[in-house]
Amino acid sequence: MMNGRQYEESLKTRKPNVYYLGKRLDHPYDHPAIAPHVRTAAVTYDLAMDPAHADVMTAVSNLTGERISRFTHLFWSVDDLIRKTAMLRLAGQETGTCFQRCVGLDAANAIWSATWEIDRAKGTDYHARFRAFLTRMQREDLMSAGAMTDVKGDRSLPPWQQADPDLYVRIVGRKPGGIVIRGAKTHITGAVNSHEILVMPTLGLPPEGADYAVTCAVPVDAPGLTIVFGRQTNDERKEEGGRFDYGTPFGVVGGESTLIFDDVFVPDERVFMAGEGEFAGMLVDQFAAWHRANYGGCKAGNADVLLGAASLLAEVHGTIKNGMVKDKLTEIVHLVETNFAGAIGSSALGKQLPAGNWLVDPLLANTVKQNVTRFVYQVARLAHDVGGGLLSTLPSDADFQNGEIGKSLTKYFAGKQGFSTDDKRKLCRYIEGMTSVATLVEALHGAGSPQAQRIVMLRQANLPEKAKLARKVIGLGKK
Ligand code: SF4
Ligand code: FE
Repeated sequence: MMNGRQYEESLKTRKPNVYYLGKRLDHPYDHPAIAPHVRTAAVTYDLAMDPAHADVMTAVSNLTGERISRFTHLFWSVDDLIRKTAMLRLAGQETGTCFQRCVGLDAANAIWSATWEIDRAKGTDYHARFRAFLTRMQREDLMSAGAMTDVKGDRSLPPWQQADPDLYVRIVGRKPGGIVIRGAKTHITGAVNSHEILVMPTLGLPPEGADYAVTCAVPVDAPGLTIVFGRQTNDERKEEGGRFDYGTPFGVVGGESTLIFDDVFVPDERVFMAGEGEFAGMLVDQFAAWHRANYGGCKAGNADVLLGAASLLAEVHGTIKNGMVKDKLTEIVHLVETNFAGAIGSSALGKQLPAGNWLVDPLLANTVKQNVTRFVYQVARLAHDVGGGLLSTLPSDADFQNGEIGKSLTKYFAGKQGFSTDDKRKLCRYIEGMTSVATLVEALHGAGSPQAQRIVMLRQANLPEKAKLARKVIGLGKK
């Protein structure tokens, strides 16, 4: 396994083609916009090296028998699913933000299962290829980004009826020894600072959409792949050099990018689905279930830090003993633990897939994510309420550093004795960043938009079965 520093070093041997604010970045990992996200992901590596966290952060590989990072491990039991949730809460507590590595982990589990099913039905050899690929990921402790969401163009039309056929990633060529893919994926968490990109289809596909049914692994610096790093909350503050106004040494959300695949050649040993569209829906659904359950873990860990910051700020304000403030903090606890309970519950009710790995309960997993789309907003509102207007009106760090006015600002923004004005400012800035629009929108749309969960929830709730129960209990006539 690598530690955080070794992970950062390992990235520097890669030469991805990264753009940000209209410029190509020669050293993307050191760039002030991207470095905080690299630091965040590095925490997942350091935590795995800490013996105190070994049970949660590491596992014994069912492929090699070696101890590996849990971020590369197949979910091989209910216990694995529960420990993964605990890992996400821990990493969320240690970073206070999105640590990016879970998308690739869930993608690996989905591809494991989908390749097994395709091979069983069609006699292909995708599963053996993926087993070899995953074994290397585990041995080298690599980070992978899961790239599922296509840019989608006109959403009323399927991929093959778009005016431009490239609006969903597709196979544009089959050559001896591999395939050629073209298209773009967007909102891809942690892509710049991953070693590998796991490309997956975004929806189930009928035969006419077969070219869009592509799952494969692409190195982050593959020829033809361009990564455009998105704008992030407060990104211009990162460029100012200091972390003070930015609020945290880590990233705010997951450093999402748009990936442009401009006729990227993918050799056969990295291709895990190429045209078997009837298995794409299953892959998407399983990936989504795992990933949606995650949000009860990572967001709970993030909210633990936010709750701590809100309570400290209330202490600075001298309002912490006020019953109404305590009640608002209690409400945060209620929302956070409800989410966490859902994630643990969906893990506890997990079922083994034919491929051997275990899937969380899809109804509970989707309910977790649906709750997150509301609760993260509610938690942010409560933190704003407790924190006060200063969260949006506090003068800049540059003003506090100014020789003429800095002293006065420090004097007039003082809070309770025992806390410095700097502490108060740091608390405000952290809460501001972690309740910003980027964080909220990520909670709403990350792992699928609210409506996507509601579709699964209604399907999984099995209304005819519920109607049968009602008929029996109430004593209605047979239908
Ligand atoms: Fe992991 Fe949560 Fe970030 Fe998704 S939002 S990658 S589950 S930390
Ligand atoms: Fe996310």
